[in-house]
Amino acid sequence: MIGAGGIGFDVAEYLAHSGESPAVNPALWRTEWGVDDPAKSTGGVAFDGPQPHASAREIYLLQRKAQKLGKGLGKTTGWIHRATLKMKGVHMMGGINYEQISDAGLHISVGEDQKDAKILAVDNIVICAGQTSQRGLAGALTAMGKAHHVIGGADVAAELDAKRAINQGSKLAAEI
Ligand SMILES: Cc1cc2nc3c(=O)[nH]c(=O)nc-3n(C[C@H](O)[C@H](O)[C@H](O)COP(=O)(O)OP(=O)(O)OC[C@H]3O[C@@H](n4cnc5c(N)ncnc54)[C@H](O)[C@@H]3O)c2cc1C
Repeated sequence: MIGAGGIGFDVAEYLAHSGESPAVNPALWRTEWGVDDPAKSTGGVAFDGPQPHASAREIYLLQRKAQKLGKGLGKTTGWIHRATLKMKGVHMMGGINYEQISDAGLHISVGEDQKDAKILAVDNIVICAGQTSQRGLAGALTAMGKAHHVIGGADVAAELDAKRAINQGSKLAAEI
């Protein structure tokens, strides 16, 4: 996976997961995180510790920034995303240069001096390295002289910002 921002982390979690989501099955969730009945285990901490399901795939989560992955995630939930991927054995690598994509896989090196060149022999490359707004429809409507409004991701596609999209949508709906 190229790009380890909020969307990269979400997509990595999705790809690491298979079967029923522990988020909707409390028993599964407790087993995964090592949470037990406090009446049975001291402090509700399961004796065997967390028992996560193995990842459904071998995943490399890569970023260009030479800093800890997930540093920019939310203060209250970022640690959960990082712990989830760590439990699933996702390889998290920072300071990566993407040199080439070939039939052999993704060619990478590390740092400004492009050290440790190697090929990750991956089957699929998922790019989570930013987005651009699609405004084709707005352009066509402008050309036709039709009134319209551009809001949300079509206005600015940057990082994780549903709040701004909802705010714009609500205000515009009230105005109309
Ligand atoms: C993996 C992922 C995780 C994210 N996580 C978060 C998060 O945790 N917090 C956060 O704040 N933001 C998050 N975001 C960003 C958030 O999803 C967007 O900012 C938000 O959805 C933008 O809202 P929108 O209504 O502008 O666009 P969208 O939610 O993309 O809605 C556009 C809708 O228009 C439909 N559509 C497109 N073209 C047409 C057409 N021609 N005719 C009819 N319908 C059409 C699409 O099918 C879609 O349903 C995440 C994004 C991704 C991809």
